[in-house]
Parts: sequence; C-alpha cells; structure tokens
Amino acid sequence: MRILLVEDDELLGDGLMAGLRHCGFQVDWLRDGVAARTALANEEYAAVVLDLGLPRLDGMGLLRGLRAAGNAVPVLILTARDALGDKVDGLDGGADDYLVKPVDLDELAARLRALARRAGGQLGSVLRAGAVELDPAGRRVRLAGRPVELTGREYAILELLMRNAGRILSRGQLESALYGWGEGVESNAVEVHVHHLRRKLGGDLIRTVRGVGYLLEGEGR
Ligand code: CA
Repeated sequence: MRILLVEDDELLGDGLMAGLRHCGFQVDWLRDGVAARTALANEEYAAVVLDLGLPRLDGMGLLRGLRAAGNAVPVLILTARDALGDKVDGLDGGADDYLVKPVDLDELAARLRALARRAGGQLGSVLRAGAVELDPAGRRVRLAGRPVELTGREYAILELLMRNAGRILSRGQLESALYGWGEGVESNAVEVHVHHLRRKLGGDLIRTVRGVGYLLEGEGR
C-alpha cells in the first residue's frame, strides 16, 4: 500500500517513515503542503498521514483544497496532544481519522489499513486468484495453502496485479508500485520481478500482453 506522509519535522518524519516501511507500507515523504498538493494531484495513494503545522500551505488548507477538488483519498491527521480544536476542525474539514502525537506506530498502521479498507470496499480482506491467496493485513502469500516467500518488491507488484485482476496494467503502472522503496527503478525491474513471481507462483498466473503490459486473470474487484 502506498502512503503519502506529510510532515515537516525531520526527526518525527524519519521515525514515521522507517516505522511505516517496517510495517510494509511504501511511503513517500514530503515536508510541505504545496509539494503534497502537487503529489496528490498526480499520484494515487491509499492514504495520507497529514501533519497540520506545515510550511507554505498548512495541513488544514491542503485538506480543504483536496476535498473541494473532489479528491476523496483517506486522510489521517496528526495533532498535538492538547489540541482538541485541531481534531474537531480536522474532522470537519474532511479528515477521516486523527492520531495524537507521539504516535504509536502499530496503531497508526492499523488505522491506515482500516481507512484504506473502508475506502476501497474490500481493500483489507484476502485476495484470491486461482490457487494464490494474498492477505494484505499480514502481507502473506500462499499457493495452494502453502506459504510462499516473496521479496517486498515482488509482493508490491503482485498486490497491485491482484487488486486489478482482469485489467491490463502497463509497465509504468507496475513501476509505480516500486517507487515508494526510495530507490530509482531500473528499466527492466518489472520484468525481473514478474519473472520471479512466475517462478514462485506458477507460469500462467501473470500474462504478458505484448506491447501493452501485464494481466492477472480473474475477477476484478
Ligand atoms: Ca509540523
């Protein structure tokens, strides 16, 4: 799941970034409201973790602008301990949830999964394609009931394909699943990961649609 973290405090941002990655999220971290607004206009995120006091455009301004523009991405705001008014304003302004700093990472991760699940209907429940089962909450994959070890990048690609079963995804769309790992994506990265996924999960799970992209057969959801 790809998350946008908007936080201008370097220390807190560093901790949240590392913690969320450890919990299995792909995280883009931006430090001001204007950069976040641009990213949200151009990229798809499963959820946003939003600090309120931000340079250039504060969190409430960003949130109101998003909702006014019809962007319904789930937003969880981070508020200071005593700022009851922040919570009320945030929820009134279109936030879906809030957490008080200092943040408990396990709780943050659970709330983000819950937000994404509500937004996507079934985003948190187990996905199936043929003999393959993927459990987003536990980040576990099984083939015919037996656990399969995937790298983080393989998992990210498989999850995106399974969420879009029955739809052809371009290489660029699959590359976007890899961006949150904080490294450049090499030109043949998607091919390599798909190759490994086929070796681990069976050659006929993921189809190559020549010149277009990749397709995982099955029911779209
Ligand atoms: Ca701040």
